[in-house]
Amino acid sequence: MTIDVPFLDLDAAYVELRPQIDAAVSGVLASGRYLLGAQTEAFEAEFAAACSAAHCVTVGSGCDALELSLTALGVGPGDEVVVPAHTFIATWLAVSRCGARPVPVEPSPDGYLVDVEAVEAAITPRTAAILVVHLYGEVADLAAIRRVADRHGLALVEDAAQSTGARGRDGAVVGSGSTAAAFSFYPGKNLGALGDGGAVVTADDDLARRVRLLRNYGSVAKYVHEVRGTNSRLDEIQAAVLRAKLPLLDAWNARRATIAALYLDRLEEASGVRLPPHDQGRSAWHLFVVRCHDRETLQRELTRHGVETLVHYPTPVHLSAAYADHGHRAGSLPHAERLAREVLSLPMGPHLPLPAAERVADLVAVLAARP
Ligand SMILES: *Cc1c(COP(=O)(O)O)cnc(C)c1O
Repeated sequence: MTIDVPFLDLDAAYVELRPQIDAAVSGVLASGRYLLGAQTEAFEAEFAAACSAAHCVTVGSGCDALELSLTALGVGPGDEVVVPAHTFIATWLAVSRCGARPVPVEPSPDGYLVDVEAVEAAITPRTAAILVVHLYGEVADLAAIRRVADRHGLALVEDAAQSTGARGRDGAVVGSGSTAAAFSFYPGKNLGALGDGGAVVTADDDLARRVRLLRNYGSVAKYVHEVRGTNSRLDEIQAAVLRAKLPLLDAWNARRATIAALYLDRLEEASGVRLPPHDQGRSAWHLFVVRCHDRETLQRELTRHGVETLVHYPTPVHLSAAYADHGHRAGSLPHAERLAREVLSLPMGPHLPLPAAERVADLVAVLAARP
């Protein structure tokens, strides 16, 4: 079996930008400064501007960006944080690593993102924050969730790992409408480094300063340690590479949107697959996720025809071994469990050729319709 449509072609981004990326890397190599230097500082300013936010503090990963945002907000042992049941496990792990407890909320029955009423119902006297995830690049209804957060005096944190450059239904770019937003620069994300990286974006001066302390041993001035921080820094090579790629983010997201529009158009009448919600805001189209009743068969048939697909994510977080001690039972979060059985991610990325996307859509239309 040969794969002729890979799920994501990562080196194509390097090929497109080779001279800029090579120059960025060799510039850092020659500079003699490999951490917390001019590239990091410049990228932080540029990324904050791209997010219409006052501050960007880079860190070692998206997971760290979430954890350090929550820690900087004072979230810790004894606290609860409301999280989506349907998400990547990193969202929950960041909460657990702060010492707090993730309290899962079901997705709305007809979509992938949290049900806003269920968010409010999950709030208890121990709740310290609401963590929303713009899963697959689709932006959550931040205005509605912010009203809930405000009503209960809670911090609102965005897991924006999959939504760099996306815009909400009010037109505001992701990262500008919450207490803090956490981004990931994992290579496969919409703005990907050549290794791990992440950032916290916020309008709050004090919060930015605390994250800055936490990422570097609790210190902004050498050997003056104000708090017990950790070591979580983006390195200069990654910062320089991200600076080379950032100017292309909007164009790359627009290419993703073109592919999504093609899929939506060609699969509109297809039986056997449910299409992702697409009428709110401007998704980053990190992933194009359909739902189908017999996912295993569809995935196997697509593989047989040379099309690679993935599942995000096959095991609901609450039923994973990592959270066995939280006592969640199978059936306790039925919508999330159903999504885990039904979701299938089609090939998606700025470098997926349109004829390949057409082929994928036509194959899905035929194969999903089979009884
Ligand atoms: C990728 C991802 C993260 C974690 O980012 P890393 O950089 O891999 O640590 C967190 N949340 C979601 C939803 C993600 O997709």
